[in-house]
Amino acid sequence: MALPNIAFFKGKFVPYSDAKVGVMNHALNYGTAVFGGLRGYWNEEEEQLYIFRPHDHYRRFLHSARIMVMDFPYTPEDLVNLTAELLRREAARQDMYIRPLAYKADEAIGVKLHGLQDELTIFAVPFGKYVANDTNAHVTVSSWRRLDDNVIPARGKISGAYVNSALIKTDALRAGFDEALVLTDDGHISEGSAMNVFMVRDGRLITPPVTENILEGITRRSIMEVAQKELGLEVIERPIDRTEVFICDEFFFTGTAAQVTAVTKVDYRPIGDGVMGPITSQLRDLFNDIVRGRNPKYKHWNVAVYPQGEGERSTAGLSLEAHS
Ligand code: PMP
Repeated sequence: MALPNIAFFKGKFVPYSDAKVGVMNHALNYGTAVFGGLRGYWNEEEEQLYIFRPHDHYRRFLHSARIMVMDFPYTPEDLVNLTAELLRREAARQDMYIRPLAYKADEAIGVKLHGLQDELTIFAVPFGKYVANDTNAHVTVSSWRRLDDNVIPARGKISGAYVNSALIKTDALRAGFDEALVLTDDGHISEGSAMNVFMVRDGRLITPPVTENILEGITRRSIMEVAQKELGLEVIERPIDRTEVFICDEFFFTGTAAQVTAVTKVDYRPIGDGVMGPITSQLRDLFNDIVRGRNPKYKHWNVAVYPQGEGERSTAGLSLEAHS
């Protein structure tokens, strides 16, 4: 993967090679960091880069930071502006993945959260597909369980918690699957290794509620709204049993990295007809248009990185002096 050219680091934009921490860094030793993951989508016709729902991403990022006893002077709007500036400095003209990371920066021994120095960095890299078979993924049910809210809250995007995702993903890939479904401790489907899940049964869209140890996904929220408004679907949040996946009509993942990924087989059992279903396919098309700024109805979810016409939402030209 290509490295970034620039990072926002210690309050300013620096060459990526200067954005370094020491090996005693608290977050490196104890996993005491939180992160976000956003996408920037290149729109070729408009020669514009659109960041998808960055205010919502940064609101969640600051919530994650709060769970980890971190305090930052930034508002979501500040972080959106910094991100747009970073992308302009990268002269990004392709699809990008943006990674804000907030971490305990002390070089000190001792496991705790309070009384430590909090730092923020943001960087971005070109990014394409995350799940290779995103129209026909074959998944397994992982033997690993999802972390409970009282162990490490899945609601916060906490770096240390992603050891759970890494165990799930590696075992699934090495066993020849594309991804995995993860059960909560009481046996319900929570999510994938780093994506939320949806099931279609009898024309209704069903997804686990936020109390099932899931990350409160921005893509999840977007798909729920689009499914209701554009397809007139009833969307239900309720626990999902493992065997419901065997008998449902359609199943798919949502996530910033995974986007809308159709799951067509689980542990060698075809889901529905064993091919991407019509509801998944329609939602996928709607989503792919929306993120690239091609659906006027959802334009408020797209933040333009480069200057554009009057009245359009863009961060270009806003003052960043307070932070650079
Ligand atoms: N669950 C987990 C564990 C994740 O890491 C992600 C990716 N951020 C998601 C779900 C999807 O969330 P979002 O749609 O906000 O990217």
